[in-house]
Amino acid sequence: MDRRDLLKNSLAGLAGLSATARMAAAQTVPLMDRPFNIAPIRAHVDRITDIKSCIRPFRTKGPRLDVEQIGNAMVVHNYGHSGAGWSLSWGSADMQVQKAMSRSPKKIAVIGCGIIGLTTALMAQRAGAQVTIYTKELFQRTRSVRANGSWTPASHMALASDAPSDLGDTWERMTRISWKNLRPYIGMAGNPVAFADHYYLSDTPFDAPVAPPPPSPVPVPEYYELGNRLGDITPKMQTLSAELHPFPVPYARRTTRLFFNFSEYGHLLISDFYAAGGKMVMRNFHSPGELAHLPEKVIINCPGYAAHDWWQDKAMVPHRGQTEWLIPQPEVNYGLTYRNVEALSKSDGVMMIDIGARGGMPKGYGMSNEVPDRAEAERAVRVMEELFSRFPSHRI
Ligand SMILES: Cc1cc2nc3c(=O)[nH]c(=O)nc-3n(C[C@H](O)[C@H](O)[C@H](O)COP(=O)(O)OP(=O)(O)OC[C@H]3O[C@@H](n4cnc5c(N)ncnc54)[C@H](O)[C@@H]3O)c2cc1C
Repeated sequence: MDRRDLLKNSLAGLAGLSATARMAAAQTVPLMDRPFNIAPIRAHVDRITDIKSCIRPFRTKGPRLDVEQIGNAMVVHNYGHSGAGWSLSWGSADMQVQKAMSRSPKKIAVIGCGIIGLTTALMAQRAGAQVTIYTKELFQRTRSVRANGSWTPASHMALASDAPSDLGDTWERMTRISWKNLRPYIGMAGNPVAFADHYYLSDTPFDAPVAPPPPSPVPVPEYYELGNRLGDITPKMQTLSAELHPFPVPYARRTTRLFFNFSEYGHLLISDFYAAGGKMVMRNFHSPGELAHLPEKVIINCPGYAAHDWWQDKAMVPHRGQTEWLIPQPEVNYGLTYRNVEALSKSDGVMMIDIGARGGMPKGYGMSNEVPDRAEAERAVRVMEELFSRFPSHRI
């Protein structure tokens, strides 16, 4: 469809509305913001190609960013980014590499090759160091690639009771540096990092009171409140009246979100790491003391959730999540959230995740089971299947 057709269709759509609806629509959503050409998601359980289950590295005190001396090695910690590691990685890397470079090392060791370890290694190379990554798994096998992979920098950062008083400022700095460092990856071949519209759909008004959650046998975590600190860099939410969006629900909102295509982005980061002379060593550490025997005397430690056992960091609390992946649909260029299920079309598949109901115990909190649950995957897909089966064909 060319631009003239788009305009014609949109005007025809507007003409079909009552005068009042037309006026309301014109006031709330300018023509340029109207959703066009929504391709339906083919949500069927027989299109599930993969189910990935994983633990978020939630740390009650927020990410660990302090510096520790182990023997004659300086260890700079960089782990515990909870449900926001993809989003915060560059900012966290930048802050921790600055600490590491305070000793002006020629060589730096990075432990771990998840998204935090990889971006840290690249940042250390950019600062002029020769970098070796020591890891027990390569990127493609890390927990990082089992995530959702959207721009969610504020996802469950810490507990209100345990967070340090400066966490909000640290987080904001980290987030802004990340945002800036992601910009150069947008528009690259293969779309390693891209923007997509994201729709929030509902059968009831968004401000309708929700039923109180069932009583919980254990205390429900109260998360640290980060406040609205990023209003100047992230797109706002728009309300779309029922006449203006194509979905078979009365209530819709939309924003535009950044997301990560894991394969392309990971491949690019690893290629850049090798191109800058980086080395990768397969190694499984069993105690912090082993780090003192590495040839590098400045080490940045990025083990993710594994710090719970390896470093005996009891502030790490497992927070299970699961994503299901359906056959890719390049014609679908958006994401949506409906009945607590999120769907996002990525280059390697249509990702779905049950994010759980708001209020009460967050889904998967305290759970360390990483066995994929087929029934959970099918439930999520069926929510989307039911939604799209209600789609009248003339609205698409
Ligand atoms: C379901 C789900 C959805 C998510 N969605 C998002 C999202 O939308 N946006 C977002 O920003 N974040 C999201 N996250 C969070 C994000 O995935 C994590 O914060 C991030 O992947 C953590 O990366 P990491 O590099 O710290 O850890 P990991 O990916 O776990 O990497 C740790 C590395 O350390 C190595 N290692 C560990 N122990 C040792 C050892 N003893 N010896 C040697 N090497 C070791 C591992 O082999 C690995 O290479 C999500 C997480 C989950 C589970």
